[in-house]
Amino acid sequence: TATLTDGVRAEATIDLAALRGNLAALRERTGASALMAVVKADAYGHGAVRCAREAVAAGVNWLGTATPEEALALRAAGIGPEQARVLCWLWTPGGPWQQVLRAGIDVSVSALWALAELVRAVRETGVPGRVHLKADTGLGRNGCQPRDWPELVAAALRAQAEGLIEVVGLWSHFAAADEPGHPSIQAQLDGFAAALGYAEQAGVRPEVRHLANSPATLLLPQSHYDLCRTGLAMYGLSPVPEVGAPADFGLRPVMSLTARLALVKTVPGGHGVSYGHHYVTPGETTLGLVPVGYADGIPRHASGSGPVQVAGKWRTIAGRVAMDQFVVDLGGDTPEVGEPVLLFGPGGNGEPTAEDWGRACGTLSYEIVTRIGARVPRRYV
Ligand code: PLP
Repeated sequence: TATLTDGVRAEATIDLAALRGNLAALRERTGASALMAVVKADAYGHGAVRCAREAVAAGVNWLGTATPEEALALRAAGIGPEQARVLCWLWTPGGPWQQVLRAGIDVSVSALWALAELVRAVRETGVPGRVHLKADTGLGRNGCQPRDWPELVAAALRAQAEGLIEVVGLWSHFAAADEPGHPSIQAQLDGFAAALGYAEQAGVRPEVRHLANSPATLLLPQSHYDLCRTGLAMYGLSPVPEVGAPADFGLRPVMSLTARLALVKTVPGGHGVSYGHHYVTPGETTLGLVPVGYADGIPRHASGSGPVQVAGKWRTIAGRVAMDQFVVDLGGDTPEVGEPVLLFGPGGNGEPTAEDWGRACGTLSYEIVTRIGARVPRRYV
């Protein structure tokens, strides 16, 4: 049954025991390869500092973020270089690279201009950079194309010879590891092996080679190399729901989202509900008001489809999700105002899950948990 702290409108409960269990299950799966806890985007909505601390306490000594600001926030919270290596992989021109160097944060470099920018910051601070060279093995997003790889490797080795940087990592990222049998998977495994082979022959001695994200951590042991960058699975969600539910991989969803039923009222049949009247009551019924909306991260795409559990029963969002509230048709039931409404939970007690929400909104559980906004307090249990 859902619980809610007295007086709050809504809250996201973060089950730290589940997080610890997931980390343990993943470490068992990665074996000799290290685990990187990916805590970008506020740990997919779960709270970056809190989750990073749990990961470090569980013996995970690599943390991954997208932006340098996210990485700096971990250091500012007291997670020092002696506790965890931090890699930020999104290089933006003009980023806070001097601060990043002083904070002992590893960076990813995909292009010569980024390397030049890093080297400038190294000369300004006197702190050598720790670099992970990123190869584009097929994602077509970040990373260096194979034809430009020799030049990037050569430039990095020259900077290393001058004592300006150390190439500590060689890495890449999958395009479709969540689609078993997708032809890009083998192509990227081969492309990564080729990129590694070239760099190592040229004289790079990386401390870590890494390619795997959550689906690859779960399904592709041949991609584990020295380090697995695991985000979604750590939060107990399955990156491959058609292959297995979280429990099939020994995982348990960490976030539950609950709101407080704010109003119950009886309306006649033919009554339009919410903006645009996209739902019209089929007959006399009761409506329940749930006081969360798209400003809290509830997708507007959940209009007419998002599931919730009220007093043990599943209900569907009636009409549009508004900025701060949505309505459910309670079918004549009259649950008490103030009753918790469970939007999603682990799923073990028949409640909807983030995965159900993803399906209802035409998106992924990744997006559902990550977008739960700052206006929703987190309760750590
Ligand atoms: N590595 C990189 C470069 C990423 O961008 C991400 C997230 O999208 C991850 C790893 C973690 O992915 P996942 O949540 O599937 O584990």
